[in-house]
Amino acid sequence: MNTDLIIVGGGAAGLMAASYASEIGLRCLLVEARHLPGRKLLLCGNNKCNLTSNIPTSEFIRSYNSSAAEFLELALNSFGPDELRKWFSKHGLQTFVEKDGRVYPKSRNADDVLHVFTDIIREKSVPVVYNCRVDSMRRKNKMYEVGNEHVTFYAPNVLIATGGVSYPKTGSVGDGQKMVKSFGHKLVPYQPGLVGFEFDGNVKHIPLANVEIVSDGKVVGMTTGDIYPERWGARGKALTNASSIVAQQQLKNYHFNVVPINSNIKGFKLHPKKTRPLKEAMVTVGGVALQDINTQTMESKKCPGLYFAGEVMDVDGPTGGFNLTAAWATARLAVDSINNS
Ligand SMILES: Cc1cc2nc3c(=O)[nH]c(=O)nc-3n(C[C@H](O)[C@H](O)[C@H](O)COP(=O)(O)OP(=O)(O)OC[C@H]3O[C@@H](n4cnc5c(N)ncnc54)[C@H](O)[C@@H]3O)c2cc1C
Repeated sequence: MNTDLIIVGGGAAGLMAASYASEIGLRCLLVEARHLPGRKLLLCGNNKCNLTSNIPTSEFIRSYNSSAAEFLELALNSFGPDELRKWFSKHGLQTFVEKDGRVYPKSRNADDVLHVFTDIIREKSVPVVYNCRVDSMRRKNKMYEVGNEHVTFYAPNVLIATGGVSYPKTGSVGDGQKMVKSFGHKLVPYQPGLVGFEFDGNVKHIPLANVEIVSDGKVVGMTTGDIYPERWGARGKALTNASSIVAQQQLKNYHFNVVPINSNIKGFKLHPKKTRPLKEAMVTVGGVALQDINTQTMESKKCPGLYFAGEVMDVDGPTGGFNLTAAWATARLAVDSINNS
């Protein structure tokens, strides 16, 4: 093999990295553990794929928690909602904006988003290795040796795009985090984000509410959206976004003050028993600690030539396309940095 970059993981971030690298003439190899790429991408937005939100980039960045917002600033200023939609449109995927500002493909079909990437990768003859779960990575004489018991690939740069640890059947099981730990990267413990809560008793359906998250007598966060009852408790935008705040702030004792909007229902308190498990979470809170990654390049501060993109890092956003946009923007920034290095 003679390539500039090995991309480990063919999910949202890895597919964008391979597509964009091929567009700018950077030679790369994509290595994917599953027999097909983009399994989680196909689940996005109930298979309709909420790509991003139609808001100005500055507001988009402010929607993440403060450490993620600071970390993503350059990546999103280079490839924010507008640039993202233009890029997809250039590649034949038209998008539309829902009333709530969420952006979807016009076809309302996540398959079409995946095909944008697989078409580019095929047309540009980017080599892809499927069924190849990378479990070892070493650096010797400024070259990375990446592979498993069957095969080793060599390149001066590696991009870790192996995702978080939620929905493990899609292939994201925490391999990237484990591998970079031996390179000196700290890991922030995993917690479920964008997930429902279990409650004692029934929870009513509320089409729109403000939800204050209260811990130790203080309001530590607020979300807005619906509350949707489930057999085991409730989810809906207001609660799923609240679950990420609870995880990011590692809250133990908390309750919610629910204030219904445009409704005769009076405000009430909700005391969750716990969140639903990580395997059901839309996103992983935690992962490779941001302090060890250069925000300007996505390169490791621990090891030159090692780059990161997507949910493998301790970066997560609310519902509304913020997680895919972050995965794509960080992938592009990493590829640009490698190309300019
Ligand atoms: C049900 C659901 C709905 C969602 N809806 C939305 C939405 O509408 N909008 C939004 O913005 N976000 C959504 N998300 C979140 C979004 O899907 C993720 O944030 C995004 O896919 C992360 O991209 P990634 O490339 O970092 O990781 P992933 O997409 O998880 O990709 C990681 C890839 O790496 C591969 N891999 C892992 N380990 C190895 C290894 N050792 N060797 C080789 N390959 C490996 C995996 O097989 C996988 O293909 C949703 C998530 C879920 C679960």
